Amino acid sequence: MDYLNCSLTEILDKLKSGEVTSEELVRLCFDKIRKTADLNALNSTYEQEALARARQIDEDRHHGKEVGVLGGVPIVIKDNINLLGTKTTCASKFLENFISPYTATCAQRLVDAGAVVIAKANMDEFAMGSSNENSAFGPVKNPIDTTRVPGGSSGGSAASVAAKQCFASLGTETGGSIREPSSFCGVVGLKPTYGRVSRYGVVAFASSLDQVGPITRTVQDNALLTSIIAGHDDFDMTSSTEEVPNYLSTINDGVKGLRIGIARQFFKDNLNTEIKSAIMQAVDDLKSLGAEVVDVDLPSLDASLATYYILSSAEAASNLARFDGVKYGVRADNYSDIADLYFKSRTQGFGKEVKRRIMLGNYVLSSGYYDAFYRKAKRVQKVIRQEFLDVFKKCDVLFCPTTPTTAFKLGEKSNDPVAMYLSDIFTVPVNIAGVPALNIPCGKASDGMPIGLQIIGKHFDEATIYRVAQAYENLHKEGQ
Ligand code: GLN
Repeated sequence: MDYLNCSLTEILDKLKSGEVTSEELVRLCFDKIRKTADLNALNSTYEQEALARARQIDEDRHHGKEVGVLGGVPIVIKDNINLLGTKTTCASKFLENFISPYTATCAQRLVDAGAVVIAKANMDEFAMGSSNENSAFGPVKNPIDTTRVPGGSSGGSAASVAAKQCFASLGTETGGSIREPSSFCGVVGLKPTYGRVSRYGVVAFASSLDQVGPITRTVQDNALLTSIIAGHDDFDMTSSTEEVPNYLSTINDGVKGLRIGIARQFFKDNLNTEIKSAIMQAVDDLKSLGAEVVDVDLPSLDASLATYYILSSAEAASNLARFDGVKYGVRADNYSDIADLYFKSRTQGFGKEVKRRIMLGNYVLSSGYYDAFYRKAKRVQKVIRQEFLDVFKKCDVLFCPTTPTTAFKLGEKSNDPVAMYLSDIFTVPVNIAGVPALNIPCGKASDGMPIGLQIIGKHFDEATIYRVAQAYENLHKEGQ
């Protein structure tokens, strides 16, 4: 039996029954990591530490001790999530040797639940990118076709799950960085409601948009991980006190009577026809299970991309000001004064895309342009958010594509930032509105690459998203 083919939920049963040990699983994952090393999905690995922890968990289980809901399962986390004593590089030269001074709440919750963190995943530098080609440690390759990108910025997290190097991973989102790579690699990824998961210990990109979420091979695995990482955290004042529902207890409730909204703005004439028909087929599938379909409108959807790149760059410029050569990471050698130290450290430490965002961000915040760009984008954000609230009076979830294309070729868009930003056109509205959304694989295109269905839900209603996704997954299980 190839245990790496099991879902996280299946492997937990096998761990519990004693059919397999955590140590065996960690060994299998590392064999796979070595075999698939050319994907470049991981920035650092912890083989000896993981084996030691796995043995301890196996022993505790053997002696009847409590080992946690995830007791012994190998998991990967993105390299912008702090884990005490390990490197947190954000795939940047700036933080190449930065050691986490503490553990992020999301990682701590996984560890407390018994997960074995085996590695940190490669990503776009500081999570800025849609293809993972902006990593200072080289691009990640898509496991389904290694001439293609895995998506970004959580490309390593998605590739690692798709390549079966681990049973699940954590990614982070600001504008699609969990859903887009999940779509490109054919796995399940959730961007939770803003505030659902603590951001404490996760390196900030745009704090008003950032969220952590799980990437898995099944819907149930995803719901399980969200239930573990979600919930209020005293260390993050933006984390919500809203109770975390038991997603697994409602996941099989079916979709009878649920209303699926279709906003025509997601389905313009220029939408790739294969992607469009895959999504429409999914809508029909759900209809056959008893869901209703309603047409809705999101008139300002078109403004989302510009709004996102203004807001996220403005916040990035502020957040990244701390990387100045004084406290964190790279410090330039020969400098004449403090301004020169800042200048040289930042010039050496940051990559091209990060510099572009910092410049864009400072530009839209500068006194002459603040009103024209930043303030206006904040106003548009309010409008978009309100449109989502209005739409969700008429439906329970929205269906749309996750991405306008399937995974593109490595290098195809790296010299055209606008073409790259357009990959995020269907994902960024969700972050701007703060609602949750999930990517689930929905067939393949003629290029052999997965198509992603995006299911968007109401604020704090991840439970309904999971219900719908589970119903869809059940319908297609046989074919997989
Ligand atoms: N691709 C988007 C960007 O580059 C989203 C990134 C993200 O979600 N972290 O900003």
